[in-house]
Amino acid sequence: MSAGPQVKPIYPIYRLDGRTFRIGAQLGITAEFDDPDGQMWTLVSNLDGRDLSEVVDAVLAQHPELRAEDVTDGVALLASHGFLAGVVPEDRALPALDRRYDASVTYFGHFAHVDEDPSRPLRTLRDSSVLLLGLGGGGSNILSLLAGCGVGRIVAVDKDAVELANLGRQILYRESDVGRPKAVVAAERMAELNSTCQVEAHVLAVRGPADVTRLLEGIDLVVCAIDEPPFVAQRVVNAACVARSVPCVYGASQVTRGRVFGVIPHVSGCFDCINIHYTKKDPQFVAQFVGFQQSDFSPPSIAFPPPILLLSSVIVDEAVRILTGYLPPRCVGTQFEVDYVSGAAYPLLDWPHLPEDCPTCGVGSESAWEVFTHYQAVP
Ligand SMILES: [Zn+2]
Repeated sequence: MSAGPQVKPIYPIYRLDGRTFRIGAQLGITAEFDDPDGQMWTLVSNLDGRDLSEVVDAVLAQHPELRAEDVTDGVALLASHGFLAGVVPEDRALPALDRRYDASVTYFGHFAHVDEDPSRPLRTLRDSSVLLLGLGGGGSNILSLLAGCGVGRIVAVDKDAVELANLGRQILYRESDVGRPKAVVAAERMAELNSTCQVEAHVLAVRGPADVTRLLEGIDLVVCAIDEPPFVAQRVVNAACVARSVPCVYGASQVTRGRVFGVIPHVSGCFDCINIHYTKKDPQFVAQFVGFQQSDFSPPSIAFPPPILLLSSVIVDEAVRILTGYLPPRCVGTQFEVDYVSGAAYPLLDWPHLPEDCPTCGVGSESAWEVFTHYQAVP
């Protein structure tokens, strides 16, 4: 098969008038060409995957005033602006069942350089294993999204059974599932939905780091969608993930906002680095934390499906970014806020890696930081 350049099929090419044309229609990724002699138009019209030497010949035949290097310069210009795709050789074609991910590959193609295989992120996901902790409002939807993105293996953990009150937002479950363990139901449902994704279910409560550690064998990334008890659950998961150097993406919903943050152990700050950072930065941090813990605050479930799905989507996209690098992570080392009211999403609070201070990802002493004495064990 030819491996010549072509304009990515996601971009329309259209004339505005006799001398002006555009590639692309989306604001921000559209280029307009002033082309009075039609040279670029001829070039673009011939970038259909044929060999580059054939493109040069075709353009020179219509524009003898040009030199071959003018044509190759034009191709390089288009490639440098991300408008050109290489052609994926047939021996790299995806298996038939993976055709369900074709549209994702097309999306990844927008970010791929002309020399890159746009299916590389998907191939990485197919070879990836993700541990998903929690199959509730966030986790049950995250499971479907991870599988829909093409993750090859998911180990899913939840201690609870399906309740009628879950069904509004946990759309993986049916009325007939009420009373059955979420993990078991989720694995069954995923087997029906997507045979390309292997889902292993565990009905268990995460009470300490050991509960997570024993599930980390072969795991490339963890998604922590449990937040009970608040902060304590994340600290338990962080301890296990940092010890095994496995990245983790955390998400939690508040009232009208949710937060997502990621930890790449020994590269970015971990959850305990957050505690130390705010102990240093905010004189009220420890008092606020202690007051919150002592309040025994136990809010009713608050979750409106559209925001929960929005937050779940940010979590899964971050997981895919970390696993594949198709884009840089946007939640690592920062608490990324999703505002349900305005729809805005933005990095809100950065925190550093503190290897000198942190007892979990560095050489610090736990007893040096009062805040850690106020973390209670998971009941
Ligand atoms: Zn740390």
